[in-house]
Amino acid sequence: MTPDPQVADFTPDRPVLFRGATVLSMDPSIGVLDGGDVLVRGDRIEQVGRDLAVPDNAVEVDATGGILLPGMVDTHRHMWQTALRGLGADWTLSQYFVFYYLNWGKIHRPADIHAGNVLSGIEALDAGVTTTVDWSHGLQTVEHAEAAVEALRSLPGRFVLGYGNILGAPWEWANDARFRAFVSEHFSAPDEMLGLQLAFDVTGDAEFPERGAFEAARDLDLPVTTHAGVWGATNDDGIRLMWEHGFMTPKVTYVHATTLTDDSYQRIAASGGTASVSTESEQSAGQGYPPTWQLRKHGIPVSLSMDTSVWWSADLFSAMRATLSADRSREHLEAHAHGETVVHNKLRAADVVEWATMGGARALGLDHLIGSLTPGKKADLVLIKNDRSPTMFPILHPYGHVVYQAGRGDVHTVLVNGELVKYRHELVGIDLDRARAEVAATVEHIRAGMGEEAWRECMAPEIPETELIPNPYTYADYRGDGVAVQHSEPS
Ligand SMILES: [Zn+2]
Repeated sequence: MTPDPQVADFTPDRPVLFRGATVLSMDPSIGVLDGGDVLVRGDRIEQVGRDLAVPDNAVEVDATGGILLPGMVDTHRHMWQTALRGLGADWTLSQYFVFYYLNWGKIHRPADIHAGNVLSGIEALDAGVTTTVDWSHGLQTVEHAEAAVEALRSLPGRFVLGYGNILGAPWEWANDARFRAFVSEHFSAPDEMLGLQLAFDVTGDAEFPERGAFEAARDLDLPVTTHAGVWGATNDDGIRLMWEHGFMTPKVTYVHATTLTDDSYQRIAASGGTASVSTESEQSAGQGYPPTWQLRKHGIPVSLSMDTSVWWSADLFSAMRATLSADRSREHLEAHAHGETVVHNKLRAADVVEWATMGGARALGLDHLIGSLTPGKKADLVLIKNDRSPTMFPILHPYGHVVYQAGRGDVHTVLVNGELVKYRHELVGIDLDRARAEVAATVEHIRAGMGEEAWRECMAPEIPETELIPNPYTYADYRGDGVAVQHSEPS
C-alpha cells in the first residue's frame, strides 16, 4: 500500500479515487457496494463501481474499513444561535421564545449573526453535513442579513439562507425595499452553493396577515419554510389558511409538522410539500411527538434537521438515531395501547439515512445535484472511517452502522463540490481560532447585555416540584435506619 496522500496532494487538477469502501450510494440503480470505489473529477462524481481504473495523476484514498455516503443535508438549522451553544439545554419551548423573541434576540448585532453562522457552518462540515438550510430568523435589519450571507460565503459548504426576522412582521419585511434590494444584490443569479428561501411562521390569525409574505415569495419565486404544527404556537388553522389562499405548493417545507390533524397532513401530502423533522427538538422542547410515524402513513416526504445548537448538537448522526428510535417507540406504544405487540419494524435504518441525504436534497429541489453518489452529480461526499475506533468493525449492516454505531468523530474525509474540507479527521482550510474569537466576543456581548443575573437564570430555569406517589410498602433497611420489611395489609 502506498502511503496516504497528504492534504497538499489534493489539487483541483487531480482526480480523487476513493478505494475499497462500503459505498452507500443512495441511488437505487447503484445500491450498496462492498469494496466499492468512487472517482471524483473536478466538482463532479465521475464513476461509482468496483475496481475502477486509476486515472493518471489521481489521488488515491484508501477507504477500506470505511463507509462512503453522500454529504448529509440539514433542512432547518438556526445557525445564528450556535453562538450561544448549549445555553438552553434545560429550556422548554416557551423559555426559548421568551429568550429570543421577547428579551434577547434584539441585542444580537450583525457581528453576532456572523459569529454563530461561521461556527455552525464549520460544525456542520466537520460532521459530514455538506448542505444546511440556515433558518435565519434573527435578521432584524438588512445589515444582519449581509452578515449572515458573508459568513455562509466564507465557508466551503453548500447553504440555503432561509431569510427571516422574528422581531418583525413577515408581510412587512418581505415587501420592504431594502429586503428586495438585498435579494437582487445577492441572489439575482442562480448559485449552486448558496440558495434562498423565505422563513416565517403562520399564526393562524383568521385575517391571514401572512398573505403578503407568501405573495412576496411567489413574486420572487422563492420556496417558503415554516414552523408548522408546533404545540401552542402554530396549528391546523395556519395550514387551512395557506390551503384556502392557494399557497400550499411543493416548494413549502413544513418544519416539525407534529401537532396536526389528518386533515392538515392530507393537505400537505396533496400539495406536494415536505416535512423537516427535528426529532431531538420535538422530544425535548415539546412541539409534539416526532411525527415520522404519521408522515409515513400520509406519504409526506421527510428530511431531517437539528433545529438549534442552543439546545442540541448539530450532527445528523444524532438526528438519524433519534428519529429511528422515536418512530419505533411510537409504533410500540400504539400497539401496546391495543394490547398488541410489534413483531416487525416498519421504519428501517436505510430509511433514515435516505432522509438525511436524498430526503434533504429533494426538499430543497437539489436532488438533481446532490443527495446520492451518482455519476454526474456534484461531489459532496463523506467517508466515515476510523481505524482507531472499536466501533468501526465489523461493519455488517452498513445502514445500521451509520445510524446506531458511527458518530461525528468517525467522519474521516469530507468533500464539498469536489473540494477537500476535512481529511484524516482534521478540517482543511478552516480558521477555527478566528471562529472561536468571534464567538467569544458574542458571548461577552450577550452576557454583558443581559446582566449576570439573567444570564445565570437562563441556565437554571425553575424546576416544578414532583409529587411522590404514595407507596403502601415500607422497606428501609437499605437506608440503615433499622426499619425491616413490612408487608402492607391486603385491602
Ligand atoms: Zn426551528
